[in-house]
Amino acid sequence: MSDPILRIAIPTPLRRLFDYLPPIDYTEGSLSIGARILVPFRTQKKVGVIVEIAHHSEYPLTKLKHAHTILDQASLLPQTLLDLIHWASRYYHVALGEVFEAALPNRLRKETPILLKSRSAKKSVKPLIAATTENSAETIVPSLNSMQQQAVDAIFQCFGKYQTFLLNGVTGSGKTEVYIRLITEALKANKQALILVPEINLTPQLLRRFQARFEVSIVVLNSSLTEKQRYLAWEEARTGRANIIIGTRSAAFVPLKSPGIFILDEEHDPSFKQQEGFRYHARDLMIMRASIEQCPIILGTATPSLETLQNTHMGRFQNLLLPKRAGAATVPSLQILDIRHKQLEEGLSAQLLHTMRLHIANKGQVLLFLNRRGYAPVLMCVGCGWIANCKNCDSRMTLHYHSQTLKCHHCETTLPIMSTCPTCSQKNLKPVGIGTERLETALQQHFPTQSIVRIDRDTTRKKGKMQERLDQVHNGEADILLGTQMIAKGHHFPNVTLVAILDIDNALFSTDFRSTEKMGQLITQVAGRTGRADKAGHVMLQTCHPEHPLLKILLNEGYLTFANALLTERRSIHLPPFSYQALIRAEANTMGQAVKFLAFIKTTIKAKNIPTLQIMGPIPAPMERRLGKHRAQLLLQDLKRSTLQKILLEFIPKIESSPISKSVRWSLDVDPIDLY
Ligand code: ADP
Ligand code: ZN
Ligand code: ZN
Repeated sequence: MSDPILRIAIPTPLRRLFDYLPPIDYTEGSLSIGARILVPFRTQKKVGVIVEIAHHSEYPLTKLKHAHTILDQASLLPQTLLDLIHWASRYYHVALGEVFEAALPNRLRKETPILLKSRSAKKSVKPLIAATTENSAETIVPSLNSMQQQAVDAIFQCFGKYQTFLLNGVTGSGKTEVYIRLITEALKANKQALILVPEINLTPQLLRRFQARFEVSIVVLNSSLTEKQRYLAWEEARTGRANIIIGTRSAAFVPLKSPGIFILDEEHDPSFKQQEGFRYHARDLMIMRASIEQCPIILGTATPSLETLQNTHMGRFQNLLLPKRAGAATVPSLQILDIRHKQLEEGLSAQLLHTMRLHIANKGQVLLFLNRRGYAPVLMCVGCGWIANCKNCDSRMTLHYHSQTLKCHHCETTLPIMSTCPTCSQKNLKPVGIGTERLETALQQHFPTQSIVRIDRDTTRKKGKMQERLDQVHNGEADILLGTQMIAKGHHFPNVTLVAILDIDNALFSTDFRSTEKMGQLITQVAGRTGRADKAGHVMLQTCHPEHPLLKILLNEGYLTFANALLTERRSIHLPPFSYQALIRAEANTMGQAVKFLAFIKTTIKAKNIPTLQIMGPIPAPMERRLGKHRAQLLLQDLKRSTLQKILLEFIPKIESSPISKSVRWSLDVDPIDLY
């Protein structure tokens, strides 16, 4: 019999498989779908994955090359995960080889054969009773309140089958406790639990909490691991030796021997969306995975995304509410600070400064939220009006005082600060606007004897710095904590009694239709950092638009009413989740080239005459120039997902093979969450 033909997924952007002959010395029975194989590709060797074993090729056999080596004796991945990878490739219109590349740890994308080292795993599950030997608060097992119990019961009933649950609980309502009980049940049934969190910074606290409650093998999968560590953790999960797996976005692809429950904490968080290369949404992948693996999945959050909320309204997801904080903690009170016509001192109103003093005198900690790092977002010459712009991007350079530099936050271009204006040569350069660095300096003047901790990308870049700063806050060494959205996510600050949000007005009038939703989530999440233990919390919001209707709904009636009002608005103007979008981005050396390419796509698709399809653009991207390239975009939108998918399926291959596509760099984003 003649040799079989191997169809192989290779990590290249080309949306197709490649045909090869088996290695010359292969033996029958050594070929498996899902196994890695080393092949010659152009002038290189590449690691691909066998996707099909066929008997015919479109190409003459004499043209086919032999693969070099079979790297795995059996499929590396279970069938369920292969199914997920195929689904992702179809849904996001990405080459299968690129999906495999995202799914496999780095180490396995190299030629190294897979090494298995068996280790004995600890298997016992800690009993659900308060531990007396360990005196950490984390080992205390509270008895569930009735809402928590109802949630646990509802989800437990669905063990062994697929169902998506929204666990919609205000911050501190005991969602994590619900996760812990369900993980316990999964472990008792000898099943594994996979928990995704949006940020690497959130893994240590969850790990600590789980370690205090479970005596089983827990592995963490995130980007701080070395290649080897990551591979070993992945292997523990795959072989079933790890019982609990905590990870960030990319762990959505970790293979499991016997999955029992999936959890996605802070499901609304945009970090679950991959924004470069293979642009998947880990939440949507996990839901599809749960249905393939027949597992329940919990989406936990205090501020559900509009997509998820709408899915509960449609009855696709089951909605579980935890409306009250667990234990003794109370929900914080919210107050608007009207700053119209008020003199601000470096962004701080007199009333806010006064309230801060009161809270500090009462031994409470204060948290200030300002979503802009650096000293000032603009450096301007007051003599002639010159502004420091990035030479590569349509963006201002941010002034960083400590390092005495100007930095572009989009391309990382860094320049020393000049002392005179490059246009008029006067010494009249002034920082305009306020970033966290400037706020910190101002706070040091207002509160010279208090200790102030700043958390943003600049102060936590070095390994361990984030934890060091969080520890300072937890140990009570910090009186004032200030930071960017890094502090808005998931962290527990039990002694914070006052939260102030300094500047949200940009979000109220942004052109991005999702910005109001994001603002509502951010305010609610930041507010949730306070009043977690026995201390009541207070939240102040500085704004020049105290009468803004949506802001009033958010503050007076809470996030859910606010989100439902937004849904009504989106429905009336046919925006997601009431329609489906795909964004085609193009960048080129000139704007003309980028627009021409997109106009070609538009004309081609328009010729199909699909009445429901809206094609918006081509328009220059909101940031027209980035890293020296000119950028434009084309938005496709339809009321039906299936129509949009059909169009992409038909046209993406045509676009890919068109000569005009060679003059640009282009990408497709299915379900974009950021139109920038
Ligand atoms: P979330 O994940 O919703 O923010 P957590 O599960 O972290 O909430 O719970 C917040 C705090 O309340 C934790 O300190 C937790 O130990 C405690 N807690 C949770 N459930 C209960 C309960 N039923 N009774 C008393 N305290 C509880
Ligand atoms: Zn000047
Ligand atoms: Zn730049």
